[in-house]
Amino acid sequence: MLETVALIESGQVVPPWIAGRWHHPDGGPTLPVRNPATGETIARLSYGGADDAAAAADAADAAAAAWADRSARHRGGVLRKAADLLDERADAIGRLLAAETGKRVAEAIGETRFSAEYFRWFADAARQPHGEVLTPEDPGRRQLTITTPVGVVASLTPWNFPLSIQARKVAPALAAGCTVVARASEKAPLAVLELFRALEDAGLPPGVVNVIHGPAGEQSDALLAHPAVRMLTFTGSTSVGTRLMAVAANRVVRCALELGGDAPFIIFADADLDAAVEGLLVAKFRNNGQSCIGANRVFVERPVLDEVTARLGAATSRLTVGDPLGPHDPDIGPLIDTDRVKAVTAIVDEALSSGARWLGDAPEIPPGDCYMRPGFLLGASETTGLATTEVFGPVAGVFPFDTDEEVISRANDSEMGLAGYFYTRDLKRLWTMAERLEVGILGCNHPLPSVAFAPMGGVKQSGLGREGARQGLEEFVETRYLSIGL
Ligand code: NAD
Repeated sequence: MLETVALIESGQVVPPWIAGRWHHPDGGPTLPVRNPATGETIARLSYGGADDAAAAADAADAAAAAWADRSARHRGGVLRKAADLLDERADAIGRLLAAETGKRVAEAIGETRFSAEYFRWFADAARQPHGEVLTPEDPGRRQLTITTPVGVVASLTPWNFPLSIQARKVAPALAAGCTVVARASEKAPLAVLELFRALEDAGLPPGVVNVIHGPAGEQSDALLAHPAVRMLTFTGSTSVGTRLMAVAANRVVRCALELGGDAPFIIFADADLDAAVEGLLVAKFRNNGQSCIGANRVFVERPVLDEVTARLGAATSRLTVGDPLGPHDPDIGPLIDTDRVKAVTAIVDEALSSGARWLGDAPEIPPGDCYMRPGFLLGASETTGLATTEVFGPVAGVFPFDTDEEVISRANDSEMGLAGYFYTRDLKRLWTMAERLEVGILGCNHPLPSVAFAPMGGVKQSGLGREGARQGLEEFVETRYLSIGL
């Protein structure tokens, strides 16, 4: 039984989970998993290297035929039951997720329920018809397409939304009849085990999902070299994604990639400014600023610049920063680790030395290595990292603009194209922005576009393929063409 919370509460080492049992539970190297709010080690992961990856891929391969043979109704039933279990356990899982990531407890519980939604949505999608009957040109032939599962899928994910990102890969993979080797980021691998426990408790056969932890590059390379692995679904940075894509090319392994973001957040002068400022605070500070679709560059039309910056300064001065599991529920928790704090601090320092200033006063920042000042900076040079890179922290630059053409061109001046936001009441402008902003996900007058029933994904270097919705299921099936002579 995959009793993760019990294991973690008793301070034990968490091994990989392969073919329905803990793998090499009696030793091997271990990695600490830290609570970024307190620095405390909350669990240790035991791991092997390429051997674990090969054992997990073997187990997924051995389970593949039987799982693909189950009816879509059966597979959907397992997913639906797992969704119910996730909902029932959402408080406990959410607290575990908050401990390992530093995200707010309410957000962590929300992420658990959102993960359940992916299972529920794909449980239904699995039962929709697939394939089509074509119209033949030759009366002596009949032609049609059928779909089959891709096969064994390597599902590799980051630490920022560890649960929901695995859910939106694993749910469609299982619904389509694939088996999976999952590797979560070593920085936040615990709550995601609860996702797999829910599946196991819901009746998923051993080996259909296998979980490994450990050295990322070695394990992903071993998975992509394994003859059974037919697909890579990866979410993470563009640099790691392009590396994995190159390795996948050696065996022509199918890739679905959800990579870095650089979202513009555009406030036009005709916008509802209450909604725009409130939306920006959500789009920037959700998950302590570490969201791939988070607002990264804020463009404000000049006539409302003073009004918007005054409101942002006032709002950020009031923010509370602290331990999400402490006595007070803060607005913002710690960043994931000291490396992230250093990277974001360097971006802020460069912007300040280029002439930028903070909007508003600094909120009180508690002691601890992973906390930093959240807020907005005005006046940074457009050549600094604040304007040109994915900040991935609770900070963003505010940049004025004068015309629609100008802001479209500046928003599109990025190799990334994941998400974008704009606030306007003008219908024509809405359509222009929707058609011309080079991003895969658009939020017009609202900051939270993610839902299980919509296709999420990026253009340009933000990725390949879509997750969620019918398109998310199609990533995991092969289309076969059958031509019948009568
Ligand atoms: P990351 O690319 O550093 O790590 C992602 C995963 O890859 C982790 O599990 C990590 O252990 C592994 N990894 C690291 N180095 C590797 C290597 N050399 N070879 C193989 N695997 C390796 O990303 P991160 O820091 O965990 O997450 C932040 C990034 O992810 C940001 O760029 C963010 O925009 C992106 N992201 C994108 C989406 C999306 O939907 N597009 C969602 C969340 C995060």
